[in-house]
Amino acid sequence: MPFDTPSDRLTDPFGRRITYLRLSVTDRCDLRCTYCMSERMRFVPKAELLSLEELALLSEDFIRRGVTKLRLTGGEPLVRRDVIQLFSALSRHLDTGALEELTLTTNGTLLSRFARDLAACGVRRVNVSLDTLDPARYRAVTRRGDISKVLAGLDAAQAAGLRVKLNAVASRGAFEAEIDDLIRFAHGRGMDLSLIEEMPLGETGTDRPDRFLRLDRLVDDLGKRWTLSPDRKSTGGPARYLHITETGGLLGLISPLSCNFCASCNRLRVSATGKLYPCMGDDGAVDLRAALRDAPERIGGLIRTALAAKPRHHFFDTRAGSTPAVMRHMSVLGG
Ligand code: SAM
Ligand code: SF4
Repeated sequence: MPFDTPSDRLTDPFGRRITYLRLSVTDRCDLRCTYCMSERMRFVPKAELLSLEELALLSEDFIRRGVTKLRLTGGEPLVRRDVIQLFSALSRHLDTGALEELTLTTNGTLLSRFARDLAACGVRRVNVSLDTLDPARYRAVTRRGDISKVLAGLDAAQAAGLRVKLNAVASRGAFEAEIDDLIRFAHGRGMDLSLIEEMPLGETGTDRPDRFLRLDRLVDDLGKRWTLSPDRKSTGGPARYLHITETGGLLGLISPLSCNFCASCNRLRVSATGKLYPCMGDDGAVDLRAALRDAPERIGGLIRTALAAKPRHHFFDTRAGSTPAVMRHMSVLGG
């Protein structure tokens, strides 16, 4: 593998330093959320996935180039067989200090089984996706999920000492009616809550324009019932935060439709087959798998090619009748 030199540090043409890698370890999932997947998904054949060893090697290459935060995602990362071995292999970079944070985004259904192992591998916080507290609506949104498994997963995560942030995809209707309960639930348990605008990625077999809810509209409405003030917390990520006086908790707002965070984008994404995507709102990608297998000295050049193509910002069209901005499903890159 190439050596780390200052010239290997990752900076894009707009001067943005890349320090954050989101690595998908599988495109598969035990759920079929209506905003993410279609009912009948065709997944990548397992033979095309990077092995756990290759995922570790690739991560290490990025760490040598200055990535200090690594998030495993998917699909559902915890359905990948033996994924804890990957966390374990990566945890030694936490020990050396090269990596500042190793974390994951999960739907939480398998957290009760894995929370302690994750904590033992140096994971300190975890993002869990949960859009509703209502068992029937949870089953409908996920097309099959059992919310009791997620609630047990949250308990297990907190018992293992993991900090939990809930992520909820905002939508019109029932979600708006339930948002106050979700805030009380999250903040009552010491968890932050982030709301995400739905992005038009991939065909999901559902009518998105009817569902799209802009967060500025939702916040206007929340302001009638809660005392909201801007919070200075920044993760270097896309969320801006509001402090809620009544709960003492934070509400994160991730607004990809208004594209208000691209200027500070510090991230790259790699799919479970080894494709490097410089921007989630764009189809452009560079395939790292062949180089990883046969010519690792080419990886640096390929990463630079991808970085050179990182757009200044993305654009999502959410008008009725518009086709998905990108045909790739959210589950390919995991957000
Ligand atoms: N399966 C894991 C989970 O659900 O947390 C990780 C992968 S999932 C694709 C990552 C995040 O993307 C989740 O918080 C999910 O709610 C969000 N997401 C999925 N589809 C989305 C979409 N079309 N627009 C915005 N967020 C989406
Ligand atoms: Fe699975 Fe996560 Fe997509 Fe839901 S959002 S279908 S849990 S990958």
